[in-house]
Amino acid sequence: MTRRLTGFQPTGKLHLGNLIGAMRPLVQAQDRPSIAMIADLHALTVEHDPAQVRANTLQVATVLLAAGVDPDRTAIIANSQVPEHTELHYLLECVTGHGEAARMIQFKEKSAGGKNVRLSLLTYPVLMAADILVHDVEQVPVGDDQSQHLELARTVATRFNSRYGETFTVPEGVRPESAARIMDLADPARKMSKSSPSAAGRIGLLDPPDVIRRTIARAVTDTVGVVREDPIGQPGVTNLLAILRACSDREPGELTSYGQLKREVTDAVDAVLAPIRARYAELSEDPGHVRKILAEGRAWVRPRAAETVRRTRAAIGLLD
Ligand code: ADP
Repeated sequence: MTRRLTGFQPTGKLHLGNLIGAMRPLVQAQDRPSIAMIADLHALTVEHDPAQVRANTLQVATVLLAAGVDPDRTAIIANSQVPEHTELHYLLECVTGHGEAARMIQFKEKSAGGKNVRLSLLTYPVLMAADILVHDVEQVPVGDDQSQHLELARTVATRFNSRYGETFTVPEGVRPESAARIMDLADPARKMSKSSPSAAGRIGLLDPPDVIRRTIARAVTDTVGVVREDPIGQPGVTNLLAILRACSDREPGELTSYGQLKREVTDAVDAVLAPIRARYAELSEDPGHVRKILAEGRAWVRPRAAETVRRTRAAIGLLD
């Protein structure tokens, strides 16, 4: 059956977009072999606080469990804990052009203006290619922001296969079936993201109910005054309707005011997040349990990853 990998960066607080766009589709597709990968190595490509990265990694793993990812069916791993990722990273660097990496939009954005950036920021899309290829996955659910990186993974895999012999499964990008793209509540032109400058437009998965209520109450709307879907003219209202739909799994009834819309959204979001918060609190009492889940995930995926690295080493000309 088709194998999938979904990645999460442990770089900030997980938000409703991550849940709706990535975690729920992962939970809903647990009949297929899947890997949920926490990209803690990627968190080191920018200025970072070591203790914070460690804490965030455990937090992402805990939230994945709290959101219903079943570790008996989905391997939950941190990419730093599976050394085959970094070994394959180097081997793939040997088939990637410097220009190919430097062309990546995210690198260009983050290094703009001659900023002093880490070398790992340049090579990180190659690590991402290794993250995917090492597990022989066939599908990678990706949003627009990651499609260029996935394309690089496909290019590198195809090039390696034709130059050194069939070694890698070439992965395809898929849109998660049920996923809506959730926009920033304060600036509905941009997606809700961990990396957006202001927290005002973000609903954190672990935010207390009163914070969520205030964030939604302050969500940007418009002066039209009619609750309807109109992505161009009413992006804020359209986004609130998308959240309502995603969180209540039914068509919204007749809504006559923005105040009513916001109250319904608040109730629906709270109904989805309250059980996750409660489960998170339980799981947090035993961090050893979460670490054990990560260790089990690692043990589960390693034989296949080691086999991929073995094939790659042999094909590229290294001794066994
Ligand atoms: P972020 O952009 O917030 O840092 P990540 O890069 O860690 O998020 O993405 C983790 C997963 O969540 C990816 O599969 C991504 O497509 C999904 N995702 C992130 N933001 C959103 C959003 N606003 N709406 C829907 N899905 C999202």
